[in-house]
Amino acid sequence: GTLAVGVDVGGTHVKGGLVDDGGAILATRVRPTPGRTTPAVEVEGVIAGLVADLLGLAATRGAEVVAVGVGAAGFVDARRGTVVFAPHLAWRDEPLQRRLAGRLGRPVLVDNDAHAAAWAEHRFGAGRGESHLVVLTLGTGIGGAILVDGRLQRGRHGLAGEFGHQQLVPDGRRCPCGNRGCWEQYASAGVLARTAREVVLAGGEHAAGLTRACGGDPDAFRGEHVTQAAQEGDPAAREILADVGRWLGTGLAGVVAALDPGTVVVGGGASLAGELLLGPARETLARRLVGRGHRPIPTVVAAALGASAGLVGAADLARTAAHDRPGEP
Ligand code: BGC
Ligand code: ZN
Repeated sequence: GTLAVGVDVGGTHVKGGLVDDGGAILATRVRPTPGRTTPAVEVEGVIAGLVADLLGLAATRGAEVVAVGVGAAGFVDARRGTVVFAPHLAWRDEPLQRRLAGRLGRPVLVDNDAHAAAWAEHRFGAGRGESHLVVLTLGTGIGGAILVDGRLQRGRHGLAGEFGHQQLVPDGRRCPCGNRGCWEQYASAGVLARTAREVVLAGGEHAAGLTRACGGDPDAFRGEHVTQAAQEGDPAAREILADVGRWLGTGLAGVVAALDPGTVVVGGGASLAGELLLGPARETLARRLVGRGHRPIPTVVAAALGASAGLVGAADLARTAAHDRPGEP
């Protein structure tokens, strides 16, 4: 079969992969995302470099790359290929699709990262066969997507599914979007890392395991370190995951009340924690959902493609789009 390149641009990492038409990843490349204060054009350079790498790799294997897709962590108007706004990145009204296509000399598709992940879970993963699907990605922030009968619901301006910025806590924690109390400030991989840092800095017996896990440098903490410590049985790490899981369930009660999905798929880095996170989320959802006891509660499951869903989905969305306009180069 033929290959497509998919790229997932997150708050901390840009991940790219060569993906076949069955959604299998043949090779991946990862680079750090330039910080929010670096000019937007630098992120573009990182993406272009990574795509060029993967195109070169495909060429050495004699494989044809039919499409390039990018899922970006921000508000994307996919029709125009423009990143309208990105809480965690420097892009403001950035015509990313046009700029990348210019650099690479080939068509590029640009969509929201969570929309891309949702597409992959619908096509190849935990959302297969579900007519009413909600997908959340827990990374630096919370990404969201709604699929009905296999179609992404984009809203009037392409910006539907920004669940991460629902205001859950009035006057709560500050969010880089400019608001306060956003859901993603209470339930994301970013929050796992931040809370672990707080535990270590507070010190005491309770913090011993996490202090060891970060090698004495709390700034180096990432969500996956917390997950790993929890899986190794550290009680403080388990407690952090359970707290974040409960916040996940609280926000989900709002999402489910609004959309009534059959299945909720939870992906992104934090989903690798599996039941340590999803167990408390399910319990809280069942306890908080309006009409509980008189209505079905949706199934909440971990993403089958884990943290790779975004790049697989970006590749497949681009492949599908290329297929729909075969006349173009
Ligand atoms: C952004 C979304 C993005 C999500 C996950 C949120 O903060 O607003 O557009 O999908 O983070 O990366
Ligand atoms: Zn926000």
